[in-house]
Amino acid sequence: MTNTTQQLNATPPKAFLIDLDGTLYFKGKPCPGAIEAVNDLRQEKYQLRFLTNTTAKTPKMLHAQMRDLGFNIYEDEIFNATYACLLHLRAQSEARCHFMVDDAVKAYFKEIPVDDHAPDFVVVGDYGEGFDFHALNHAFRLLMDGAELIALQKGLYWFSPEGIRLDCGAFVTLLEAAAGKTATIMGKPSETFFKTVLSNLQLTPKDVVVVGDDITTDIVGAESMKMRSVLVKTGKFKPDQLENPVAKPTWVLESISELPRLF
Ligand SMILES: [Mg+2]
Repeated sequence: MTNTTQQLNATPPKAFLIDLDGTLYFKGKPCPGAIEAVNDLRQEKYQLRFLTNTTAKTPKMLHAQMRDLGFNIYEDEIFNATYACLLHLRAQSEARCHFMVDDAVKAYFKEIPVDDHAPDFVVVGDYGEGFDFHALNHAFRLLMDGAELIALQKGLYWFSPEGIRLDCGAFVTLLEAAAGKTATIMGKPSETFFKTVLSNLQLTPKDVVVVGDDITTDIVGAESMKMRSVLVKTGKFKPDQLENPVAKPTWVLESISELPRLF
């Protein structure tokens, strides 16, 4: 490790960008010590933002869920891929979209014109059982006819309270392979997503630390933006992910409960 890296690592950050699923809660329950860790960080006057690739819910619904679990967090601190996607679609003038998302999320996108026959974009998020053959084949045809593919996120699976479950990235990958297209990703590890959060905080990459349980989204995103990162060994974490990792976390902690003591 170089001196500059050591100096940077020792510098207390101004903000933490914290993942939700697998880092603060897992399988519908708070991770041990996570509620207290958030309270401690707040007490130390760090700015907090909560970044999640969960796209089945709007930020408002996520906020209610986190409050119900006992977390002291605010709605305007939550950034999910759904919000990032809305900002992106707003920036494309008069884009018409075919949505493969849950009803609540579709309502959240109500200002964006829908076109189910010749859209500019096919937008794919959490669609659960909506991902049947007909829906996927329809999307495939729209892509072959020239629509571009937007993915709210590209996670392949997640752990629901009922067990492991395919995530929207599995269906995005299927559509990419069949149509020969590459999706634009809205959530982590997309740089656009992290830049949106940094600009909201009015901070630069050296001022923040990303905290998460997923190397492919949290840590890859942090590395590509030259932000420091903490990988927690909860949620999705598996020890073999640290052998030849796709990105290297600055720190590895047993859980977020150890984070307040890191600085
Ligand atoms: Mg996670």
